[in-house]
Amino acid sequence: MKIEIRKCPKCLEYTLKSLCEKCKSVTITIKPAKYSPEDRYGRYRRLAKKL
Ligand SMILES: [Zn+2]
Repeated sequence: MKIEIRKCPKCLEYTLKSLCEKCKSVTITIKPAKYSPEDRYGRYRRLAKKL
C-alpha cells in the first residue's frame, strides 16, 4: 500500500488527506528528492563519452 504524505501550504501541517482539516485548503504531495542535479550532469557526461 502506498501512502502519500501531503502538506498544507498554508499551515505547513503534514497530513494524509487531500484537504487540510484546519483551513480546508488543498494539500500538496511531498515528493522525495531522488535525484540531484549533479547526478543528471553525470548522466549527460556518460552519454557524451559514448558518442
Ligand atoms: Zn491548512
